[in-house]
Amino acid sequence: MEFLPVFFDIKGKPCAVIGGGVVAARKVAMLLNSGGRVTVVAPDLCSTLKQQAENGAIFHIQSRFAPEHLNEAIIVIAATDDREVNKQVSEVAKAHRLPVNVVDDPDFCSFIMPSVIDRSPVIVAVSTGGSSPVLARLLRARLETLIPGSYGRLATLAEKFRGKVKQHFSDSGQRRIFWENIFQGPIAEMIFAGREEQASNALSKAIESSGKDIQLQGEVYLVGGGPGNPDLLTFRALRLMQQADVVVYDNLVTPPVLEMTRRDADRIFVGKQRANHAMRQEEINELLVKLAKEGKRVLRLKGGDPFIFGRGGEEIETLSANHIPFQVVPGITAASGVSSYAGIPLTHRDYAQACVFVTGHLKDGSMDLDWEMLARPNQTVVIYMGLLGLPVLCQQLVAHGLSPDTPAAIVQQGTTPSQKIVTGTLITLPHLATEAQLKPPTLIIVGKVVSLQSKLAWFTPDQESEGNFALTRNN
Ligand code: SAH
Repeated sequence: MEFLPVFFDIKGKPCAVIGGGVVAARKVAMLLNSGGRVTVVAPDLCSTLKQQAENGAIFHIQSRFAPEHLNEAIIVIAATDDREVNKQVSEVAKAHRLPVNVVDDPDFCSFIMPSVIDRSPVIVAVSTGGSSPVLARLLRARLETLIPGSYGRLATLAEKFRGKVKQHFSDSGQRRIFWENIFQGPIAEMIFAGREEQASNALSKAIESSGKDIQLQGEVYLVGGGPGNPDLLTFRALRLMQQADVVVYDNLVTPPVLEMTRRDADRIFVGKQRANHAMRQEEINELLVKLAKEGKRVLRLKGGDPFIFGRGGEEIETLSANHIPFQVVPGITAASGVSSYAGIPLTHRDYAQACVFVTGHLKDGSMDLDWEMLARPNQTVVIYMGLLGLPVLCQQLVAHGLSPDTPAAIVQQGTTPSQKIVTGTLITLPHLATEAQLKPPTLIIVGKVVSLQSKLAWFTPDQESEGNFALTRNN
């Protein structure tokens, strides 16, 4: 290591910042966040610092730098735009053996400032040893997505129970296992979900009842994997995907989304395969219960949003009946993701004030839908699972009063490199769709908003990376 990473306690201690611009202001903010007493030395201040000086958050010495300005300080930061001044600050500080940082000038520094992820009391600091602050910032952004915002509250809870746990488990190995289980299990999830009191009670109980062997209770994460493109996962989805022991997934989950799950997790496919029948819904429900009862953290990963044509409700009803803890993570539903990537706004002040989502699944060759409601003017109708029923659908909408010229689109594998859009009218679309030989999944959008597509399309599918996305299974 080029540097020794340390965390300084500067609470209530004098810190000197030389320079009054926006860069200085950023450093001042860090010092103030850590409880430092900040003096800024500069002839002029930027507006942020000026305000802080006015309301007494910092002390301002209106002057150019002089060596005596460092007399009190325990730490020094130089952030002027004059390299000579910065150099002088560095020399004076070093002569006094004061730790000094000169912004963007490693040669004059005795310490460097990391990029920080603040989940106080948890702090993660990232440094590239001064070689690339941009890289450190990018890394920081990645870590931000992985560490839940409420992680600090978890540490606060742990602090509160530390003594009790120590008393209860004299063996340090047992203590470690206990805490590992807590930090990765339902109690941590209660904290992340904002249920602190419940978490506190549960932790008390866990300590009392855990004796020597800790029987872990499993849980189920019902997670929406979005419409196929892994960029569209939520932070929460990603976090749970990376912590689950078993992944139960079906057709709509694309390979790149599945790739984001923990490498060593078991993966169980429960969708339809050409030669195979799909696992029945009841069997899936039972499988989830069984896995959770074995103490596993089960990721039930579904395409889109689990509560929109995803039978998510049915799955968690069984869990609830079996007292298995679960949580639901919303995903971007096909209507939303696919329409965005196709350039079709679902509502628009001039064309559609409402939007309806329906399933176009055929039952005995027909569709049991409220056609009058669907044929209303000034709304957009989005049809899931409608490819086979497309001719029936278009016919019925016209029969119930929509103009035959109403614009309509069908989008194949939206948001992925295989995205394909076919647009037409209620009269022409069925034929055009057959000609285009679309592959599932496809989404149908009907309404005047579709006419905007030619103007608003922005996403160009990248056919080269199509292979990575290939939906290997039929939907
Ligand atoms: N829960 C899912 C929908 C499951 S029903 C969600 O919220 O999106 C399955 C149907 O979703 C498919 O038949 C298709 O109509 C639609 N769908 C899902 N992903 C899609 C995609 N990437 N492109 C087009 N349609 C998609």
